[in-house]
This record gives sequence, C-alpha cells and structure tokens, in this order.
Amino acid sequence: MKIDTNLWFDPRNLFVGGGWRPASGGTLSVEDPSTAETIGEIGRGTAADIDAAVEAAEAALEGDWGRMSATERGRILTEMGRIVLRRAEELARIEALDVGKPIHQSRNDSVALARYLEFYGGAADKVHGQTIPYRDGFTVYTLREPHGVTGHIIPWNYPMQILGRSVGAALAMGNACVLKPAEDASLSSLAFAAIAEEAGLPAGALNVVTGLGAEAGARLAAHPGVHHLSFTGSVATGRHIQAAAAANVVPVTLELGGKSPHIVFDDADLDAAMPVLVGACMQNAGQTCSAASRVLVQRGVYDQVRARMAEIYGRLESGPAMGGHDLGPLVNAKQKRIVSDYIALGRAELTVAAEGRIRDDAAPAGHFVPAVLFAEVPPDHRLAQEEIFGPVQVLIPFEDEAEALKIANGTDYGLVAGVWTRDGGRQMRMARKLNVGQVFLNNYGAGGGIELPFGGTGRSGHGREKGFEALFGFSRLKTVAAAHG
Ligand code: ADP
Repeated sequence: MKIDTNLWFDPRNLFVGGGWRPASGGTLSVEDPSTAETIGEIGRGTAADIDAAVEAAEAALEGDWGRMSATERGRILTEMGRIVLRRAEELARIEALDVGKPIHQSRNDSVALARYLEFYGGAADKVHGQTIPYRDGFTVYTLREPHGVTGHIIPWNYPMQILGRSVGAALAMGNACVLKPAEDASLSSLAFAAIAEEAGLPAGALNVVTGLGAEAGARLAAHPGVHHLSFTGSVATGRHIQAAAAANVVPVTLELGGKSPHIVFDDADLDAAMPVLVGACMQNAGQTCSAASRVLVQRGVYDQVRARMAEIYGRLESGPAMGGHDLGPLVNAKQKRIVSDYIALGRAELTVAAEGRIRDDAAPAGHFVPAVLFAEVPPDHRLAQEEIFGPVQVLIPFEDEAEALKIANGTDYGLVAGVWTRDGGRQMRMARKLNVGQVFLNNYGAGGGIELPFGGTGRSGHGREKGFEALFGFSRLKTVAAAHG
C-alpha cells in the first residue's frame, strides 16, 4: 500500500516557520515493516534545514508566540488535542503502517497524544512563581520562564506519545520547538505539524525537520541557538546528545530505556498478575523503554507462574500491523537482526519455556520474530542484563525480599519496576528501595499515565517527563529581588 495517497500533507516537506518546504538533502524512503516494501518518502533534512528551523523558532519567540498569554497557548494545545481526536483513526493507520505497530495499539497512541495535549493545554496557565519572605524593605518573587528554543529528538517506538509528552509540555511553557523525529517513523510528526497549523499555532512555535540522526539530529543537538534538549532513544546516542549539550552548557533530559523488573511474591494475586506480566513486555513487540523484560518470581509460585505464562505465550501471534494481532513486526531489518541474535544466544545457553508463533499471513520479508520466554535465567546472563528491545522475557527465581531487591537493582538501568504482593509493608519497603523512576504496586504501566512523572536512574537517563513535573523541566526559574525601602 502506498501511504502518500492517504495523507493530507506531503511527507517530503519539512515544516519550518509555519510553512512547508522541501528538504535540502532530498528524500529518504519509508518502509512498511510488515512487508519491507517502500510505501513513500520523507524529506532528508540537513544541518542547513535545522539552522533554518532554529532561526524560525527564535523569530517566533520574538513575535506572536512569545507575546501570547499562557491561557491562549493552552487553548491552542487543547484545540490540537481536539483535532487529534477527530483524526485519531487516520493517525493510528499512519503509525501502524510506518512503525509496524498493531493497529489497536496505535489507536491507543492517538488517544494518548490527544490526552497529552489536553493535559498540557489545561496546565499551561497553572504554573507560576512564588513570593519569598525576605528582609525588611524587599519584595522577592520568582518567575517561571521558557528556556527559549527547545530541541526534541525522538525515537521510532512511540512517536505520537513521545512527541506529545515532550513537545506538548514545552509548548505549554512557551518554548519554541524544533522536533527531529526518527528516520524510521516520521509520518506522525509531520501529521502533528499539519494539526498544529490547522489549530492556529503561531508560525515557528513548532518546526519539524525529518532526516538522519547523524545529519539533522547531530546538528540539532550541537546547535548553539538551542537552549534545552530532550532525547529519548538508545544509551549510545544519549551519550552523544549529553556531550553535545555539555559543549553548549544547556540542560538535557534523557530517557534511554531499561531492563525493568516485574517482581512476583508468593502471596501475589496471580489471576490479576498473569496477563499483565506478559502484556507489559509484549506491547509493541517489546520495543518499549519500560518493557517489563525481567520477571522475578519467588520460589513458592515460580513453577505455577512459569506454567501459566507459557500457556499465554502459546496463544501469542505475530502478524501484519493492520491485522491487529498480539504482536506486529519489529521496526526494521536492523532491529530484527539484533533481537534474533539475542534469541539465538538464549536458545544456545538457556531453557526456552515457551514461544509464540508467526502467523501464516505474515509476509516472509516482514521483520517478524516470535515471542520467546526463557526460564531459570541467571541474573548476570546477558539476556537478563541487556536491553533487547524485542518480545523476549526472562524468568528469574528468587528466595526472599532481599534477594529480589538485589536482582532487581542489579542492572545498569533503572526506569520502571512492578511489584505484586498483598503485604502492605513489603509494598512500601520495595517502593522505597527499588532504584527506578516509577514503581507500580499490583499493576504495571498504569495504562500509560499521561499524568505520572516518568524518567530513569542510572543508564536509563535523567530528568522527568510526563505529568505536571515536566512543566518544571521545560521552564527555568528567575528570582527577582526588589529593594523598595
Ligand atoms: P536506534 O539505534 O534504535 O535508531 P537511536 O537512539 O540512535 O536509536 O535513535 C533515536 C533518535 O536519535 C532518532 O531520531 C535518531 O535519528 C536520532 N539520532 C541518532 N544518532 C544521532 C546523533 N548522533 N545525534 C543526534 N541524534 C541522533
């Protein structure tokens, strides 16, 4: 299927300064991961295009956008949310074709994008400074101000959700944004630009430059006119971004993935836990930063959990994104190779507890892998330590709370953890001692949680996005001290 005919914008254009223009580096092809066929083209933005986008953002801050009240900014974001809902099905189809995500999951992403815009639209005029009691004859207060131009480099796994949380919060605070989506998943960011245009967002407040990481991405990260960077992606690229931010001494928010544990104690409500244990990793075929890829199970229920998970795995099917199966394909050939290598390593060195199947209607050229569950995995094995970013889970047995904590905290990452226990004291102890940014007690992921601050520790990154907290990250504080006698 050619995607261009279904779009209401030309994806070969960049969105800069409120207008659409061809990229100066030509085009890149867009692949459907379900078939590996080329379905369209996007623009290959270059350093020159990024420079133009930063200039347009600077002009917006000096112009209508910079003068706009917080309430008006909020209204425009809310309007963008309305348009996203109106176009939710189109957006979902674009994302499913571009990323390979099962259509029912990309429908959730459309709604999540709308929710971010509603949330940050409503919050825009509710962030304010304080007055501070000080010496006699002084009045001291603080102002919350935008950073200025913010750079947003996002990955291919949840483009709509990640641009919503990042650009949504930045716009709410009055920043002017330059967004560089991933080369494998740019269509929804361009659709978002078209929606911003339709909602009347002033020219230059949002600029979208598609292109390669090493070209457009690297220039955005290093541009001296950018005052804040937010990046979601791999640890390796995150290091580049942080180094680039250091060179310009600008703040940076990094969300770099994880190896998140799901911890099941003997007293857990297994009926409630079982579907969540599997679903928390299989969503988006495991290509989720917060995928619960390690399942730590106390010895007393280990055999039961293993058997019940195996039963669920036996029913898991991978198939074309538009078919809405449990899993779609992986995003590209490179990702399939990486994940397949991990699965091969696991088959050679570990015990396969269960696996799903690839449907017969899945195109052989599509980037499909089966879901695989490995059992009795030593906590220091590579499959229990490294982020796989595919539908692979490891089962790790433990004896007691202390051992569970040691294993859970025993990786380089610290993004999310889930704990299943009916013991209230243990819930509180685990929540305090887990070295992560989010803990879920008797649930996992809380259905996306637009309102819930999110971010990592260790190699998972730093800074917090989502919820009200993100508004502090996307603004800076100024203290004003007036001496008036
Ligand atoms: P992956 O390896 O799965 O493609 P990355 O972390 O490299 O994941 O990609 C996430 C985002 O970072 C994408 O938008 C990509 O274009 C961008 N990117 C990749 N390399 C760089 C770089 N050197 N500088 C800036 N952005 C980059």
